[in-house]
Amino acid sequence: MTQEPILILVADPEKKVHALFASLHKENPHFKFFYAFTSDEAIKIFSQEHIDIAFCDLYLYPVHGLEILKKLKSILPGASVIITSYEPMIQNYRACLANGALDFIPKPFDAKLIHNILKAIVANNYIPQALEEPKISKHPFILKEHTSDTYIKFWGTRGSHTVSGTDYLRFGGNTSCLEVRSGNFLAIIDAGTGLSNLGQYIIEHENKKEIELLLGHTHLDHMAGLPSFKPMHDSKFNVTIRAPINFYKSTKELLRDMLTHAFFPVDLEEVKASLKFKELYACSPFEIGSIKIDCHYTYHPGTTLGFKIKIGPVVLGYITDNEVLMGYSGDPKLITHDHPMLLPHLGFIEFFKGCDVLIHEAQYSQKVYTEKVGWGHSSIYNAATIVKYINPKVWIVSHHDPEDSDEMIQKKYETIVEACNYLDMQCGIRMAFDGLKIHF
Ligand SMILES: [Zn+2]
Ligand SMILES: [Zn+2]
Repeated sequence: MTQEPILILVADPEKKVHALFASLHKENPHFKFFYAFTSDEAIKIFSQEHIDIAFCDLYLYPVHGLEILKKLKSILPGASVIITSYEPMIQNYRACLANGALDFIPKPFDAKLIHNILKAIVANNYIPQALEEPKISKHPFILKEHTSDTYIKFWGTRGSHTVSGTDYLRFGGNTSCLEVRSGNFLAIIDAGTGLSNLGQYIIEHENKKEIELLLGHTHLDHMAGLPSFKPMHDSKFNVTIRAPINFYKSTKELLRDMLTHAFFPVDLEEVKASLKFKELYACSPFEIGSIKIDCHYTYHPGTTLGFKIKIGPVVLGYITDNEVLMGYSGDPKLITHDHPMLLPHLGFIEFFKGCDVLIHEAQYSQKVYTEKVGWGHSSIYNAATIVKYINPKVWIVSHHDPEDSDEMIQKKYETIVEACNYLDMQCGIRMAFDGLKIHF
């Protein structure tokens, strides 16, 4: 007795699925398969043939499998439709069954399973299986957390003077202050207004009583946080302030001028912490604990130093105020290593070469720089040129211009990236913001 042919539609974008069904034909000559790769092909087939069973992938192109299911059920209400999918989500499963699918089979499947399904449907005793819960490991992979105790944290990243308001929420408005930490070692570079918040943190969280404060120079944007630095007003703390000798007065004398009752309710003699002052000299390495620190002159009005510190696995360079290639606003590619304008900076470049992470300003756009030559800060292109010769792995841009809103700093970042690409530089670039913490 010859069996009536069973017409089976296989609508699936994968060739191997078609082949899997085709392999069943030999044993089951009464199965007549029709194949479609796309939804259009599938619609054409079931409009022309009286399909008995359809296996339809959920993600057919261009029409979704669920729509094909609805269409097929409206044309051939008696057809058994099984939806297949690599995405066995419960929502998909329910939507398919609610729209008349006989079952929802997760992919991949094998020929044996399909054969059993077909046999059961033909015998009219097919029982749909409940959708299996996705298998989730109880032990998910989690990278071992990097708990390095070596890090830097920016507490103030603004140059020249503070800013506040809704235009500065992202990068912040405090002036320069950097926490440098490695195990027990703590140094603070610059005492801009960011120092107030760091002081509060130290008071609340630290047992440490020795504080090292390094000042590259004594312009107000690097000093204004000192009067409100709480550890200075607490007898538990010993604060060592290291700074270069100023043109006119020592750092202690300058601080005495700053902390007078005319400007602040506490004068220098009333400060409770024990204060020590030490002078810094260019290219004269010194140590704090086991940490080696050295400094080099930068191009900035007054005696100004940039710092080089080896902490943990990295060498860190910190230069916030540095006007390089003074007055130059031309093509940065023309500043070759033997260019006369680079000559004054060769010692500086040599000194900071080998820094893994270089913090260096790029305060002015090309256009603004033409109006601010001699103010002690670099244009983006000139800064990029110097950074190119130092060749750090990462350049962190800090000491942002107070005239720059968050949006303008973001734009500057894009310009810096363009400049670095133009100069074939490989280093990563980050814009510092108040609160940026980087572990090494
Ligand atoms: Zn400054
Ligand atoms: Zn300055």
